[in-house]
Amino acid sequence: MNKVKIMATEYTVLEVEQIDKGKRVLGEIDYIEQVIKLEKELNEDLKKEILIHEILHGILEKLGFDDLNNDEQKVQSIASTLYQVLKDNTNLV
Ligand SMILES: [Zn+2]
Repeated sequence: MNKVKIMATEYTVLEVEQIDKGKRVLGEIDYIEQVIKLEKELNEDLKKEILIHEILHGILEKLGFDDLNNDEQKVQSIASTLYQVLKDNTNLV
């Protein structure tokens, strides 16, 4: 998958060597450039979970839920749970 559509915006998903040299950042979303970056070296399971995390940021940005969007702990909790539900219920959508 290299494109993700979130409401009217289509994001390009890129796998990159390193997102941020200083910090250990595994994923990133750029609302202006409409790009989601994921670290190439991650295992597929973690990569998908981080993709869901970045998609969730994209959804919250679209909805204007800025407080929630800036709360990394809540975003990560929802993302990892949502990923588990989607993974364990493949016939859901
Ligand atoms: Zn985040």
